[in-house]
Amino acid sequence: MYEYHNALRVASELQPAAPVTLVRPDAALDAARFFVSAFPGKSFYAVKANPSPHLIETLWAGGIRHFDVASIAEVRLVRGLLPKAVLAFMHPVKAEEAIAEAYHVQGVRIFSLDTHEELAKIVRACSTDGVPADDLTLCVRLKVSSGYSKLSLASKFGIGVADAPALLLAARQAADALGICFHVGSQAMSPAAYADALAFVRAAIVEAGVTVDVIDVGGGFPSRYPGMEPPSLETYFAVIERAYEALPVSYSAELWCEPGRALSADYASVLVRVEKRRGNELYINDGAYGSLFDAAHVDWRFPVKLVRADESVAEADEFAFYGPTCDDMDYMKGPFELPSDVKAGDYLEVGQLGAYGQAMRTGFNGFGAGETAIVRDEPMASLIPVDGVPAVPANVVKLGAHRR
Ligand SMILES: *Cc1c(COP(=O)(O)O)cnc(C)c1O
Repeated sequence: MYEYHNALRVASELQPAAPVTLVRPDAALDAARFFVSAFPGKSFYAVKANPSPHLIETLWAGGIRHFDVASIAEVRLVRGLLPKAVLAFMHPVKAEEAIAEAYHVQGVRIFSLDTHEELAKIVRACSTDGVPADDLTLCVRLKVSSGYSKLSLASKFGIGVADAPALLLAARQAADALGICFHVGSQAMSPAAYADALAFVRAAIVEAGVTVDVIDVGGGFPSRYPGMEPPSLETYFAVIERAYEALPVSYSAELWCEPGRALSADYASVLVRVEKRRGNELYINDGAYGSLFDAAHVDWRFPVKLVRADESVAEADEFAFYGPTCDDMDYMKGPFELPSDVKAGDYLEVGQLGAYGQAMRTGFNGFGAGETAIVRDEPMASLIPVDGVPAVPANVVKLGAHRR
């Protein structure tokens, strides 16, 4: 990968006809070090947010030693890159073959489940010559509300509080260490999401009367986007720590989390080209089947910036985007704010695509990934206020100084 100062240098030196993924390893390092030092427990990176090997290695360099994987392909990927990483297979519905390979070949010892059937499957797949494994950490996934989150994870997985005690008791029998996990939904806009979920956890523990060794608060930690300005992550950590310390768990219990978005969002932007302008609609060369799935399907607003050598002095206006494929669904309504004189041939940087952006790209209609380049300027989140502190222009923010 070549390295450039910023998006403008990439645009002017390469004049790329295909979208270019701009990656910011410094931002990923910052994010990793932040979680390692500020979260009051262990942080497992949720690989699905962005499985780029370069990112995974960068997070390792920043001190992340634990990884949340959800498929056997993710297990193999991380194990291949990082032989010493601790992997947790946290998809509650797994293929038995996947569990067996994870346990017997890839050294995975941590599994999640939300049914008695999945528990039986894990016990079967991890036994050797009919002898059950005695080194499993089993995490029972509780169903909690996604009420504070922009993307729900509430309907698919998780056992209700009423049924959880029986499953906790059964898992306790099969486990060396017993955990409780949940996911409050992605981009949780208030720390109250975790306080509420931990109240459910407390009820389940009290009802079951089991000894619990791990409390895993999952992912959901927010990043910053236009119109989505969550409180600082320190506020979340403080709320979680307070609720965790009030739980009836074993003396040696551990607190875990599984950030995906919060560790990866700042890592990547995409440099796109405007191919046509029709009123306030811009036809760009990346879209719903590329890295802008969420912009098209859940109207996510990503920060955008005009990348032009002579900065535009035109006032700002609101734009919608069409992506490059031939169907109407490749449409992102935004609104995206850009100078009103933006025109065909201009380049734009679409920011905060390190989480669920880069990872979602397909080759549909012949529009696949272009090149990847490293850039060394600040991630575009630094343009968005946090805790009410106004944005600082990107060009005066020093690396490593951006607030979270
Ligand atoms: C998706 C997912 C995560 C990561 O969620 P973010 O909102 O990106 O932090 C963590 N844990 C599980 C089980 C997930 O499915």
